[in-house]
Amino acid sequence: MRIGVIGAGICGAAVAERLRRALGGRCRLFVLDCDSRVGGRVRSFRFAGQIVEAGASLFHSSNVLVRDYVEHMGLQATPASPPGHTAGIWDGEDFLYRTRGRSWRDTVAMTLRYRGGLYRLSKEAKDVVDRMGDIYPMLVGGVAWPSPWHLLQSVGLADLARVRAVGYLAGHRCRCGTRLLHEFVNPVSRNCYGQVAAGMNALAEAVSLVGGGLAGGQLLRVREGNDVLCRGLLTRANAEVRLSTTVRRAVQREEGWELYLADSHVLPVDAVVLAAPPELTGIQWEPDPFTRQSRTYKRIHVTFLHGDLKPDYFGVRETPGIVLTTDGHRPFLSLERIGPSGIYKIFSEASLPDELVRSMFGKVHDSREVIHDAYPFLFPREKHRLFSPLPGLYDATAMEDCVSTMETQMIAGQATANLLIAHVS
Ligand SMILES: Cc1cc2nc3c(=O)[nH]c(=O)nc-3n(C[C@H](O)[C@H](O)[C@H](O)COP(=O)(O)OP(=O)(O)OC[C@H]3O[C@@H](n4cnc5c(N)ncnc54)[C@H](O)[C@@H]3O)c2cc1C
Repeated sequence: MRIGVIGAGICGAAVAERLRRALGGRCRLFVLDCDSRVGGRVRSFRFAGQIVEAGASLFHSSNVLVRDYVEHMGLQATPASPPGHTAGIWDGEDFLYRTRGRSWRDTVAMTLRYRGGLYRLSKEAKDVVDRMGDIYPMLVGGVAWPSPWHLLQSVGLADLARVRAVGYLAGHRCRCGTRLLHEFVNPVSRNCYGQVAAGMNALAEAVSLVGGGLAGGQLLRVREGNDVLCRGLLTRANAEVRLSTTVRRAVQREEGWELYLADSHVLPVDAVVLAAPPELTGIQWEPDPFTRQSRTYKRIHVTFLHGDLKPDYFGVRETPGIVLTTDGHRPFLSLERIGPSGIYKIFSEASLPDELVRSMFGKVHDSREVIHDAYPFLFPREKHRLFSPLPGLYDATAMEDCVSTMETQMIAGQATANLLIAHVS
């Protein structure tokens, strides 16, 4: 059987690897990507002598799929931030507070400031992590959920994806006050998703709190670069990877699908797995199952600067390792020192104006900007897409209706592969 996977990001790579494991030599796998590199929104490169992440930068120690593959491929999982990394919440004029990097003192100070609110949020984040953990035995057992909603429902998380985070957090379980929301929850979700609790669903918010360190455990990255994971998965899948290959049109035929490529070739396949957001691919689908449920993606600018950050800009003597910002018109979403040698990574909603860079930095040795259509606006949703909207067509990106991370895209990839395997067995 011939299977075409559109997208060589972490999701497409996970689909291909799972299909090869299940179907062995019974399938020919084509993985097509319009980019000249593998990884999609997982994008690692060398900047000022260091490997940096311009896309997905960290995963949580509870992320079983990422961790297992890192281990099996002989890669190294390493802490995403150096020990003692300090943090500050900046409102555009002042720091509302700064941690000192001495964990127990910081914990005591924050417990006093938020009167147990952080403890309740942390319980909530840990609960989500525990429930996500129940997905893995089902995935391995070949469970073929029809949609992300069914997948989340099987571990008791579907309702979180349906409600607005701000209402959920204010409810009786979390009792999150406005101060905690303003000073912690929103700055963390601005850093993770460029969005705030007023618009996001409660599941995505909980996931961003996990990324903000609230679930305990460790926040990790792949030392060799996160995108090595995608390349490793595709090698294991023994897939025929075609880079710089844009799919322009996909047409359903009596027997399978035809993929029309930009170089005028046509690739006939028995099944297609879409592992790229249909809103961004520009593919013309015949018939089209996607337009009715279209999502809008949030644009994020990631700027790396190698230079001397001026603490004066923030009115302090030493800038915290990571600066998160409160909601409002701030010049950036977050700023992080990554490594000892003056390399900074800044997330923003637009390119950083030269004037701003001049006021923040003394000498700038090097800079580089990467622009992503990063993640959908993660609104609460009543209805979810199907993992297989038409016969022979599989949509692994359906999961991004509710949340977007490397791990959840790998889960979605494997779940979609399970469905395809169930259909052909
Ligand atoms: C700035 C940023 C920070 C993030 N931080 C984190 C983080 O710290 N931790 C975390 O877990 N997640 C993070 N994420 C989210 C994570 O990167 C994504 O959820 C995940 O990488 C999505 O993977 P994917 O394979 O589904 O899609 P993608 O990576 O987008 O892959 C889709 C692929 O399809 C290709 N494609 C598109 N159109 C066509 C076409 N017509 N024909 C052929 N190929 C096509 C694209 O070139 C792309 O390679 C971050 C994302 C961004 C942008």
